[in-house]
Amino acid sequence: MAWKGGMLFAVPPHYTSQECPECHHVAADNRQTQARFVCVQCHYENHADHVGAINIKERGYRLLACGDAALSRSVKQEPTEVSQLSSGMQ
Ligand SMILES: [Zn+2]
Repeated sequence: MAWKGGMLFAVPPHYTSQECPECHHVAADNRQTQARFVCVQCHYENHADHVGAINIKERGYRLLACGDAALSRSVKQEPTEVSQLSSGMQ
C-alpha cells in the first residue's frame, strides 16, 4: 500500500510512532507490536499508524504556529527602526 501524506513542510519523523499523543511520553515500549500502540505511562491505546499520523500532524501545526509568530514579530520591528532613524535626524 503506497500511502503518501500531503504535507508540504518538513516534519521531523523521529519517534513519531513511539511518542504518546496524550502525555508525550516517548518510549520504545509504547510500541507493543507493529500495529498496536499502548503508552506505558498513561495507558493510552490506539493503532500505531494512527498515533504516528497524529504526532506528525501536531508537529506540523507547531511549525506553522512558530512561523506565524516569527512573521508578526518582524512586522512589529519595522516601525521601531523608522522612529530611530527620524529621531537621529533632529
Ligand atoms: Zn501517554
